Amino acid sequence: MTRRGRHFLQIPGPTNTPDRILRAMAAPTIDHRGPEFAELGHEVLAGLKTVFQTASPVVVYPASGSGAQEASLVNTLSPGDAVLAFDIGEFSKNWAELARRLGLDVELMPGTWRRGVDPDEVAERLARDLRDHRGHLIKALLVVHNETSTGVTSRLPEIRRAVDLARHPALLLVDAVSSLGSIDLRHDEWRLDVTLAGSQKGLMLPPGLSFNAISAKALAASKEARLPRAYWAWDAMLAANVNGFFPTTPSTNLLFGLREALRMLVEEGLPAVFTRHRRLAEAARAAVRAWGLEILCERDDELSAVVTTVVMPGGHDADRFRAIVLDRFNMALGAGLGRLKGRTFRIGHLGDFNELMLIGTLGGVELGLAAAGVPFTRGGVDAALALLSVREAVESAPGVSGR
Ligand SMILES: *Cc1c(COP(=O)(O)O)cnc(C)c1O
Repeated sequence: MTRRGRHFLQIPGPTNTPDRILRAMAAPTIDHRGPEFAELGHEVLAGLKTVFQTASPVVVYPASGSGAQEASLVNTLSPGDAVLAFDIGEFSKNWAELARRLGLDVELMPGTWRRGVDPDEVAERLARDLRDHRGHLIKALLVVHNETSTGVTSRLPEIRRAVDLARHPALLLVDAVSSLGSIDLRHDEWRLDVTLAGSQKGLMLPPGLSFNAISAKALAASKEARLPRAYWAWDAMLAANVNGFFPTTPSTNLLFGLREALRMLVEEGLPAVFTRHRRLAEAARAAVRAWGLEILCERDDELSAVVTTVVMPGGHDADRFRAIVLDRFNMALGAGLGRLKGRTFRIGHLGDFNELMLIGTLGGVELGLAAAGVPFTRGGVDAALALLSVREAVESAPGVSGR
């Protein structure tokens, strides 16, 4: 079928890649051992520190997010080490399963998939670990910052405080694949030990790059860690990075794109990027509520700024609805993952995204609900418009100064 107009890629990653980044990547590949590459390497490695809000090193792998998940574990842990993970969504569960396959002793704390990691539970579990352990202390916590399957953002600063209050030495490993570059994330201030991320969400790039930001404590742990590692090993990577190079062939053209993405984030300013995501998310939720549909996330202080997971009314299949939206309106919405399959759909509102894209997206959802015969109340798009118009008037009109 021929479809006119731009495809709306409103899944919560991969996200829409801006033309500026596409153009930056459409360049001849250069010698990855030459002087021009060294400049590129130095610029992206420094730029990544800004986005991770860290002075520590950030390494780059030619891999999807799961590669960076594996790297965070094999570099810091030893066979049989106890790690604490949380069953709060599909990505959290997958990371725990990956850890189990690597030979770690994974304790998966049960969760409802409607809330994030509970700081009080963390504090209680770690205190008990210190009381009871017989030489088998929990070595690491695996926390997904923004659970992309549920649209729930865990309260990382409170989780950090819980670990501190328990005076527990565990490493805090954080998956920030869908939060980096969209939701405030402070690797240094929150003393995260490894923060991992990927290229295809807030960074607005195609899939294919992923990252580990490495604290001094994590680096020290890597000297003792005995899980087998070769390709993912930090030491060879960090040694080559000093001169702007990589130990193996890097994804040169994706790095051209990354350089552009990092410049764009700095031009807009990280605080403005975070505010933009929060506003658009609020407008998206206003639409869902006006439709009379349920948002999966239960807590107001854990609502995701990058994705809204919507519960389908009973008896209606979310995947059929998504298929209609794709077919009729040329828009891809996120599927329900794992146990949420068919029961939820996800509206991605992150990356290179603005008010009109949001209104178009919500318009597509509203048309799709009608087309699929799902019971809902009209007026979601209006509710989003109302919310966006009220605030915009004075704040950022060009030429308006003062208040
Ligand atoms: C998208 C995502 C991943 C992605 O892993 P891939 O290997 O790139 O598919 C991991 N964790 C979270 C929280 C994500 O949102």
